[in-house]
Amino acid sequence: MLTTHPYDDDHLREECGVFGVFGHPEAAALVALGLHALQHRGQEAAGIVAFDGEQFHAHRGMGHVGDIFASKEVMASLEGHSALGHVRYATTGEVAMRNVQPLFADFEFGGLAICHNGNLTNSYHLRRQLVRRGSLFQSTSDTEVIVHLIATSLKHTVEDRMVEALRQVEGAYSLGALAQNGLMGVRDPLGVRPLVLGQLGDAWIIASESCALDIIGAEFVRDIEPGEIVTIDALGVHSTKPFAKARSQRFCIFEHIYFARPDSIVEGTSVYEARKRIGAELARENPIAADIVIPVPDSGVPAAIGYAQESGLPFELGIIRNHYVGRTFIEPTDQIRHLGVKLKHNANRANLQGKRVVLVDDSIVRGTTSTKIVEMVRSAGASEVHMRISSPPTTHSCFYGIATPERDQLLAARYDVRAMGRFIGADSLAFVSIDGLYRAMGEPGRDPAAPKFCDACFTGDYPIALTDHEAGKVSIQLSLLAETA
Ligand code: SF4
Repeated sequence: MLTTHPYDDDHLREECGVFGVFGHPEAAALVALGLHALQHRGQEAAGIVAFDGEQFHAHRGMGHVGDIFASKEVMASLEGHSALGHVRYATTGEVAMRNVQPLFADFEFGGLAICHNGNLTNSYHLRRQLVRRGSLFQSTSDTEVIVHLIATSLKHTVEDRMVEALRQVEGAYSLGALAQNGLMGVRDPLGVRPLVLGQLGDAWIIASESCALDIIGAEFVRDIEPGEIVTIDALGVHSTKPFAKARSQRFCIFEHIYFARPDSIVEGTSVYEARKRIGAELARENPIAADIVIPVPDSGVPAAIGYAQESGLPFELGIIRNHYVGRTFIEPTDQIRHLGVKLKHNANRANLQGKRVVLVDDSIVRGTTSTKIVEMVRSAGASEVHMRISSPPTTHSCFYGIATPERDQLLAARYDVRAMGRFIGADSLAFVSIDGLYRAMGEPGRDPAAPKFCDACFTGDYPIALTDHEAGKVSIQLSLLAETA
């Protein structure tokens, strides 16, 4: 499901970020800082639940972390030595307060706050079964399915109930849960979405990305492994791997291309260096006679540096990005909306006049922004515009936690590369190949029998069953309550 917003910049959107702290007197303040560093993973809503040893305290809101947790009173109310937080960009469930995470529920064993990054691919199917058996859902979020599966489990401990619940779900998820006895971090058996473990003195941290550890001065300890449940309690850190071992792990390769922050280390790889290597591979595969290489900022910058270094062409900033275009800007009329790209990007004319330009971006989704950027660079005086993309053509939708248009809206699903180039108005268009992408990630190429990454949006090879999608989930009404944020 695609959630649109003013001045949509035509990128796929990461859905969520998770951050949790166990064992620090200012746990909630650390979580707020961590969420701030994860803001790129979701800008629609955020929440924190803290536990003070007796009671849980929650605060959730719509908008950016800095606004939701700005007041001293709010932060003072989030007492406790452990806390769990979440930033959200909805792909499943509508934009409403009832869906803002972490969700909280009172169980027979006590309270539990829970949130996740990713998407369950059989949540509608499970939800129908649960509702038939009497579960009353409060939200339309797929996370609540896990809550009800935990509630209906007959196991005794929180961990055992969690395992029983997660054995029933399919999908890509990195999950955080805060119970009275501790904090849990879980990755799905294929490890599609990231989750790392960090340490700050005696306190332990779980975070979607390592850049969120840096902001609080915590040390990166390790990635939580695919299929691993890490439980942190008064006795320390415990690890279990209760799921059947997957054939191979399938980390989302788009995290390396675009979603993760370039200052994060993901699965042992610097995201910035990986992007530069992809850019270099792009240059080797698709050279062109040109005068300068310019990125579409910010996401195209590292790949453009890699392209420039490999090709020997000078790297220049030919497009300047305005960082102050907020999501809270006035809802535009259609007439004004088409100007939106100029609010965010402007051509640096002095650099472009009479130049043959290699323009580097990370992906093309619908092609609307690429068309406007190519036109902007050309009308600023570039004599030729050659677009180079540091991912293969995005031909398929993602069902694993990334907001994607329906397949028929993806430019690469409608046209071949030559026709895409004509559509965006470029003199030439080229993408890094799927094998080139794998080479940049240190592999010999893509092994079709056992690919090392999830690359389904480029190949259509979905590693996790799409149970709901295949059953036509779009026709299922989740709630009769219409609620606005
Ligand atoms: S389909 Fe694409 S965006 Fe989605 S998890 Fe796989 S690689 Fe990532």
